[in-house]
Amino acid sequence: MATVKATGGGGAKRGPAERPHRFGAHLSIAGGMHRAIAEALRFRTDTVQVFVKNQRQWRAAPLKPDDVERWHELLATPGFGPAVAHATYLINLASPDRALYARSRAAFTKELQRCQTLGIPYLVVHPGAARGAPAGRAIERVAAALNRIFDRNPRLTTMPLLETTAGQGTTLGSSFEQLAEIIGRLQEPVRVGICIDTCHVFAAGYDIRDAAQYDAMIELADRCVGLDRIRCWHLNDSKADLGSRVDRHAHIGRGRIGSAGFRNLLADPRFHGVPMILETPKGKDAAGNDWDRINLRRLRSLAARVTGSRTRSREKASRKAIPDSSDRTRCAANRRR
Ligand SMILES: [Zn+2]
Ligand SMILES: [Zn+2]
Repeated sequence: MATVKATGGGGAKRGPAERPHRFGAHLSIAGGMHRAIAEALRFRTDTVQVFVKNQRQWRAAPLKPDDVERWHELLATPGFGPAVAHATYLINLASPDRALYARSRAAFTKELQRCQTLGIPYLVVHPGAARGAPAGRAIERVAAALNRIFDRNPRLTTMPLLETTAGQGTTLGSSFEQLAEIIGRLQEPVRVGICIDTCHVFAAGYDIRDAAQYDAMIELADRCVGLDRIRCWHLNDSKADLGSRVDRHAHIGRGRIGSAGFRNLLADPRFHGVPMILETPKGKDAAGNDWDRINLRRLRSLAARVTGSRTRSREKASRKAIPDSSDRTRCAANRRR
């Protein structure tokens, strides 16, 4: 995991690379891929998340060379990146329907290739939905799809990030144990990472508002998938309750998680340098302020308050909270792979 050293003080000329938290938002590519980075730079964020094609349809027009070039020009902005992509929602790598399964594999492969062309190292994907099939069978299908994609694309460096889910319906990925089961079936597990969504884990029943429970969740994630695999966070508050298994994003600090939950994460130095992406509702508030700006301001002010002495005391506490590797039984195998 890339860690960026925290620097004290608030010099006006501090480059984004020196900031411990790498915030970004999911931004629109309407009018050209590069528009998302241009917007991110206006927001003074360190990273961005994009779709690499229209997310509502299977079809994807080829990337235009001009568009790719303009994207790379902006991506090369000093201190910016890594950029993150999110896969089309239509993709279901667990689908029991043969045609949909094949289509999902093909579409996901294409998106990984587009990411590679765009210099995007991570493609976030929901693990899939069992749709009436037993969960065990669905897990096997996801792993088989990834194995086949990796096998046929040996030079692909963009890493799929399996996202934690709220567990709505028959979706996979609402527990770290389940993500571990997928990873445990991969022939090349080093090629897969994890994206943790704060709204999803909360709705799935992990109470990140509480410091001890936040630590317990991270400890479990470490045992199951390894902290090194956590390459991205989605920062969303939740409109729905703890354990509701309902996926509804809310503005930071204005949902059921509230500021405390985000403070626990932002004070955790283990995730400094890891992209933290807002996927909160878009639009403007009553005063005409852009919600992305409001949420970013909120995150920055929370981060500023927890960085420093509290971070250091947490660092000590969290080192203690993680058990010695000899204690790790559940999910221990993946960590070593
Ligand atoms: Zn998400
Ligand atoms: Zn969500």
